[in-house]
Amino acid sequence: MVFYIDVEKCTGCKACIVACAVEHSGSKNLFLSIFEKPTPQPRINVEAVAKWSLPMLCMHCEKAPCIEACPTSAIYRTSEGLVLIREEYCIGCKVCILACPF
Ligand code: SF4
Ligand code: SF4
Ligand code: SF4
Repeated sequence: MVFYIDVEKCTGCKACIVACAVEHSGSKNLFLSIFEKPTPQPRINVEAVAKWSLPMLCMHCEKAPCIEACPTSAIYRTSEGLVLIREEYCIGCKVCILACPF
């Protein structure tokens, strides 16, 4: 799975962040997901870099520091090379965020 992002076309509107959070919600509905607890979280962020808005998402690194850092082995690599999280093992410590170079 590869995402190609044309930064020349990105307006920084952040609609992709909302769409990603809704996709990872229980209801997968924009209006219902707002009231869910815990609040649905996106897997993408949009950063301001120089004159551009740069959508940032997981790079599925070959040597992924997040996998090494996760204390519960919640993060794993699939046979297709994707880096995913077993949400039932995640304790929310956020160490993976500190370990991620992006
Ligand atoms: S912020 Fe996201 S949704 Fe908005 S233009 Fe950029 S890539 Fe598209
Ligand atoms: S270190 Fe960051 S970018 Fe790399 S696989 Fe882990 S979460 Fe994704
Ligand atoms: S928040 Fe902690 S337990 Fe959850 S995936 Fe990240 S490092 Fe692993």
